[in-house]
Amino acid sequence: MPKYIFCTGGVVSSVGKGVTAAAIGRLLKARGLKVAIQKLDPYLNVDPGTMSPYQHGEVFVTVDGAETDLDLGHYERFTDENLDRTCNVTTGQIYAEVISKERRGDYLGGTIQVIPHITNEIKRRIALVGKQDEPDVVIVEVGGTVGDIEGQPFLEAIRQMRTDVGRDNTLYVHVTFLPYIGATGELKTKPTQHSVRELRGIGIQPQVIIARTDHPVSRDITNKIALFCDVEPQAVIPLKTTDNIYQVPLELEDAGLGNFIVRQLGLNASEPDLNEWRDLVRQMRQIERPLRVALIGKYVELRDAYISVKEALSHAAVAQDRRLEIEWVYSGDLEKGKGWDMLDTVDGIVVPGGFGYRGIEGKVLAARYARTHDVPYLGLCLGMQVMCIEFARHILGLEDANSTEFDTATAHPVIDLMPDQHNVADLGGTMRLGLYTCVLQPGTHAAEAYGIPSVDERHRHRFEFNNAYRASFEQHGARFSGLSPDGRLVEIMEVSDHPFMVGSQFHPEFQSRPNRPHPLFSAFIQAAIARQAGRQQAGVPVDEAQEVDA
Ligand code: GLN
Repeated sequence: MPKYIFCTGGVVSSVGKGVTAAAIGRLLKARGLKVAIQKLDPYLNVDPGTMSPYQHGEVFVTVDGAETDLDLGHYERFTDENLDRTCNVTTGQIYAEVISKERRGDYLGGTIQVIPHITNEIKRRIALVGKQDEPDVVIVEVGGTVGDIEGQPFLEAIRQMRTDVGRDNTLYVHVTFLPYIGATGELKTKPTQHSVRELRGIGIQPQVIIARTDHPVSRDITNKIALFCDVEPQAVIPLKTTDNIYQVPLELEDAGLGNFIVRQLGLNASEPDLNEWRDLVRQMRQIERPLRVALIGKYVELRDAYISVKEALSHAAVAQDRRLEIEWVYSGDLEKGKGWDMLDTVDGIVVPGGFGYRGIEGKVLAARYARTHDVPYLGLCLGMQVMCIEFARHILGLEDANSTEFDTATAHPVIDLMPDQHNVADLGGTMRLGLYTCVLQPGTHAAEAYGIPSVDERHRHRFEFNNAYRASFEQHGARFSGLSPDGRLVEIMEVSDHPFMVGSQFHPEFQSRPNRPHPLFSAFIQAAIARQAGRQQAGVPVDEAQEVDA
């Protein structure tokens, strides 16, 4: 049976509870332990797949095709373990299951209640995590903040687990925030005290408090928290805001958290080996040479919507000794003639995934710019589709070429609904999701980047390249460098006669790791570096926009 670490949050949300849980996973993995991580999300949606990025940020896709919370991306990147659909549970899933059991008559006439029926279902889901791999430790993060009405059944379930699996097998970590009062120059512990009191009211006594803060924390403060919250002083760990999230495991390790957890849970752990991680973080800090890349998005004011893309770009840049600078360009601005000065100064353009018509024409314009100016371009899912639309409009001369997602009446549907999507009525969980094999065509950018004949990549789409246009695309210099094993479905399209213009129907960003950048991102960054070098040689001031910014 695994040991359990439960992570709750107090005071405010968005202080990095997910990164903290992921970092704890890394500390345990560094000690030779097998770790699995689960996120419990107290909202009523069955999954975040149907939510707006404004509500939720990115939807992360697991290998088995679950649409999940973006924290699973942190978990995978920090622990380098692939998670599955058991690793993200929502209130919607719990209630759907309990109600369908009730309809079947499984409860034999009983009255269905939050305790025990809902809490039992939550505990059943916790027990399913990583079962086949027999993890030593399961880390369970409860979304939201203590005191939220929606979170109560989850907190009650994890409270019960202390008795179910035994005190020695559970550890409760509470992540809080210390506000800073500018007038007196003080960090305040009172909100932390209140949130711990709230947690104790539910019956959970945290054994570790991670105090997130934007300012240095003195020993007096941590001792005060320890005293008021009844936690060992060494287990009150301040965690200052950092601009590099990969630093967090090292900060927690250096504060003694790894050893504390091992002792508390009586884990059979080896000495921690964080050398590779430390080297990586040191390298990230030392890199000076910048590389500027534009990300053309629809939610650029909301960076979380593209978090895996951002991370994947930076993993690839770091591996090539470049400090990545992303210019976030709103595609709607490009349509109005704004933001083009940015594109003039970058060495690569990325168009990420997306849905709906808003901003599409700006993305098509960005793809056109990349193609006609030889700027390295990486298209991810929708970014591949707009690349095809642009190619059809301007190379094949099919002026109104489009995706039927944006224009159902287009005369040239170069991107069209997948055949098996025609009878799909529900929006939730019905896309082509998860891992599918893509066979690479020799002699292409994609095949060269991967260096292997076929790859498995994660998908999330309803539309695909329309094969009626394949021959004319190829005649005009497009290459379909990745296809499904039966050859029917275009997985990667690229433009020959261009330094690097590659679009994938899948989302390679989900498989990138800080110490193992994704081959397509690496190839894109290499191409961007080559362009930067070429421009420098030609005397173009590559850091122009930076100076304007300053
Ligand atoms: N909207 C497009 C589709 O459904 C692209 C999806 C995406 O970018 N994830 O095919």
